[in-house]
Amino acid sequence: MHIGFLGLGNMGGPMARNLLKAGHQVTVFDLSAEAVSGLVEAGAKEATSPAAVAGAGVEAIITMLPAAAHVKQVYLGEDGLLANVQSGVLLIDSSTIDPMSAREVAAAAANNGNPMLDAPVSGGTVGAAAGTLTFMVGGSEADFHKAQPILAMMGKNIVHCGDTGNGQVAKVANNMLLGISMIGVAEAMSLGVALGMDAKVLAGIINSSSGRCWASEINNPFPGVLENGPASRGYSGGFGTDLMLKDLGLASEAAKQVRQPVILGGLAQQLYQAFSMQGHGGLDFSAIIKLYRQEDET
Ligand code: NAD
Repeated sequence: MHIGFLGLGNMGGPMARNLLKAGHQVTVFDLSAEAVSGLVEAGAKEATSPAAVAGAGVEAIITMLPAAAHVKQVYLGEDGLLANVQSGVLLIDSSTIDPMSAREVAAAAANNGNPMLDAPVSGGTVGAAAGTLTFMVGGSEADFHKAQPILAMMGKNIVHCGDTGNGQVAKVANNMLLGISMIGVAEAMSLGVALGMDAKVLAGIINSSSGRCWASEINNPFPGVLENGPASRGYSGGFGTDLMLKDLGLASEAAKQVRQPVILGGLAQQLYQAFSMQGHGGLDFSAIIKLYRQEDET
């Protein structure tokens, strides 16, 4: 199969490599020449614009871009995909953007005769490299089945979440909960330790009790609880605070559009924002525990 891929960053680069490894022809575009040359070395063909990808005879196109503005520019711009792609070519956007923008771009694609799916991912850069991402997919059942074999080369769990935009809905709802629950675990762990309890023992109790969650078990924010977690290596690697902040912003924005209160989501957003403003945006989001502890303790 001949696949177009635009957006070869931390996520898109390894995802496109997995398509090459599976034996597909891949034509790539990115604004960064360095990102493109890495993929060309791995066997991809270079295109010089989104229009050139669209015109290269591809059967499907995947995009993995930073935010909604980039997605709109790449799909709807003058030199963009929709103005140049043949009708019938399957379009898959895996960027994390707000559901309304995803629906707007998919409607324009449908008018152009192109099936389009929103397929944001979870699993981070490790999952992208290993080909074990989870894809949350929005769009028609028939288009989902067409995309499934392509997504299966980059991911392990491929879930149809419903109509267009619902992949993004699933992603923002999950990540809002993740952002909130990390703060909850940070607060509870800090309280327990301040009251004299050993952090590992407390984490063990929580993880076999009703407080258990991903933030307590897989990415516990307290240093030393998990030997290989970001908290035990100065909060490097992992899922950056600024990426969490981006996803909480999407949740707040989407909530506003349907007048749905997100009280804890809004509070979590402000806490990560304050933390980012202090210069910690590049640290794993579990570093939010620093808000609860003295500087020399973490
Ligand atoms: P990134 O910044 O590393 O990569 C984005 C790439 O898009 C860059 O190479 C950039 O040059 C390129 N780009 C920007 N505008 C472009 C344009 N107009 N045309 C072509 N290329 C363009 O970002 P990333 O970490 O790979 O994330 C991509 C998306 O995946 C984001 O929406 C992010 O929220 C989401 N996501 C990231 C992670 C993660 O752990 N990094 C996890 C899940 C989801």
